[in-house]
Amino acid sequence: MSERPIAGFLVDVDGVLHIDGEPVPGAVEALRRLRALGIPFVLLTNTTIRTRRQLGELLRALGFPVQDDEIVTAGAATAAYLRARYPGEPCYLLVDGDVQEEFSGIPLVEDDSAAVVVFGGAGSPYTYERLNRAFRLLLRGAHFVAMHRNLVWERRDGPALDTGAFLLGLEAALGRQAHLVGKPSPDFFQAGLARLDLPAGRVAMIGDSLTADVLPARALGMTGILVRTGRFRPQDLEEGRPDVLLDSIAELPDWLARRAP
Ligand SMILES: [Mg+2]
Repeated sequence: MSERPIAGFLVDVDGVLHIDGEPVPGAVEALRRLRALGIPFVLLTNTTIRTRRQLGELLRALGFPVQDDEIVTAGAATAAYLRARYPGEPCYLLVDGDVQEEFSGIPLVEDDSAAVVVFGGAGSPYTYERLNRAFRLLLRGAHFVAMHRNLVWERRDGPALDTGAFLLGLEAALGRQAHLVGKPSPDFFQAGLARLDLPAGRVAMIGDSLTADVLPARALGMTGILVRTGRFRPQDLEEGRPDVLLDSIAELPDWLARRAP
């Protein structure tokens, strides 16, 4: 194991802190101990279901010591990307969740005037009619943007198909790729590092996905910590190795204490 001193954390939310609104055992206490130690953390999440404020409220209601400005979401990052890259352009948005607040000022349309097609988290708005409308807009040359490309997410009632599964089919049919804003896009991790105001070598990313959280963080020079909660499956370890493997985020404070000189 490398012994770079860790001065801050990027923390995945779904599957690490909570699973569909149910806290992971020990997760609240782990973040409280980081807070008590004065170790900064930023939550880096591909969630598109909630705004930063709504997610902050949910996490505080579960007991997590988190402020809204310590949260970076794929939904908010996508809105920022659209404002910078396609200012004023009408967007056709497929998302399961209430992100209107993050998208304030961006014209959202439901007709053929859309110049940008934006995919958020999958759910009931992903009807055949709406997916096919998106397909036709993209065929005609609309810009193709995805908040994330997760294949699966964990709900309380079991695994659920996510955006990436639909993107694969659309990309095959279209012969082109969506521009990715959320994890594993390096820009998204850099946004988290900027919020922490720490260099990558002093930061550890803790997540439940090797491919979305741990490996892209390691590629940028961070320490990658994988937890065996949420969507972790033992066979994931065939795709690469984390620097550290913990049963859950509950073990994080003790792991950090063991590393201290
Ligand atoms: Mg996760």
